[in-house]
Amino acid sequence: MRDIERVAVLGAGNMGHGITEVVALGGYDVTMRDIEAELIESGYEDIEWSVGKLAENGIVDDPDDVLARIDTTTDLAEAVGDADLVVEAAPERMALKKEIYAELDELAPDGAILASNTSSLSITEIASATDRAAQVVGTHYFNPPVKMDLVEVIYGEQTSDATAETAHDFVESLGKTPIYVRKDVQGFVVNSVLGPFMVEPAWMVSNDEATIQEADAAMVHQRGYPMGPFELADLTGIDIGYSVREEAGITNPPLIEERVAAEELGRKTGKGYYDYENGDGADYETGDGEGFDTLRVEARMVNEAAKLIGMDVATPEAIDTGMRLGAGFSEGPCRRADREGLDTYLDKLETLHEATGEERFEPADYLVELVENGNTGQESGRGFYEYEDGEPVSGGR
Ligand code: NAD
Repeated sequence: MRDIERVAVLGAGNMGHGITEVVALGGYDVTMRDIEAELIESGYEDIEWSVGKLAENGIVDDPDDVLARIDTTTDLAEAVGDADLVVEAAPERMALKKEIYAELDELAPDGAILASNTSSLSITEIASATDRAAQVVGTHYFNPPVKMDLVEVIYGEQTSDATAETAHDFVESLGKTPIYVRKDVQGFVVNSVLGPFMVEPAWMVSNDEATIQEADAAMVHQRGYPMGPFELADLTGIDIGYSVREEAGITNPPLIEERVAAEELGRKTGKGYYDYENGDGADYETGDGEGFDTLRVEARMVNEAAKLIGMDVATPEAIDTGMRLGAGFSEGPCRRADREGLDTYLDKLETLHEATGEERFEPADYLVELVENGNTGQESGRGFYEYEDGEPVSGGR
């Protein structure tokens, strides 16, 4: 495995230009490639603006020095011919990604690592377009890369430890915090755990068990999340989560289906769950959350976390770090569940599963196992983490 000195970034869009900037800020030489000169120009201008801002704020000493490390080209061979690491941030379409990886396999040096920034596609399948699947890995940066500290480092089925570790160390050398996602599961870690946060309240509203304002107010003001689930969906785009779930074979609640059919997709269309054109946007008040079943939503997140740990996809530390840095949670779901008692969450899931028969409430084997063995959390000395003097000392199976 070679040392990383030269990096190529494919795509000058939202993520590509942000990753290029972060890599140059980290002191590496980087070539940004897109398919048309105008797209590169626009991405490069965004980088110039952002590096300028960082200089104004005293975070960067010499913006010209950073910009001098960035080359641009529309020529793939030129971009990747001497790269040690290629970060691909092209549009989220499997057929396109496979085309790109087949070309990369021909054009990038033999030892080069190929890293995809995909949010939802299979790393294993992307890697199958190459003859170097051991050197293909996911490095999932969050938007905007310059501000967001987290990067998920995702193993495809054939990714070697050397590749994942090199990608991990590279990310760390940029001043970011990498977490390992050891299996290529849909949603990786952050979006897997965030899924129920977004979807369960939408089921509750669809079933007339709650209102949008009740859910957002309760999750923010009672449970301390930075945004309510509906407010967050309006920000990220209701259609984005909808399509990812569709592709993954996860049923979308009627409320989400209705919004997508009406093309009320959130802030970007002026209206989603809230009205941003003729209304005041998210208009819930502190007290609106009274009576909303927050435990039901959190129990489903804890269940997702337990599945990931049980399947050896991630450690409790990785999940908690991911949710804090990637989703802005004030506390990771594993720590919170340990503090509040895993049995409380398991009871909730069992009750809901029995009452509704819905598969999504079926408790994860690992959660059941922990509770059955008396490992109900901090108070018992062991839950997702092991505790000494009230402090977590290690975590995982
Ligand atoms: P984008 O549409 O803003 O940018 C993609 C760019 O790739 C476009 O400029 C396009 O012209 C270019 N492109 C197309 N074919 C190419 C090729 N063969 N070589 C090089 N460039 C090519 O998309 P984005 O939001 O930057 O997303 C890029 C990737 O990052 C996707 O896989 C997406 O899922 C992932 N991602 C996006 C976000 C986000 O919030 N936008 C967050 C994390 C990850």
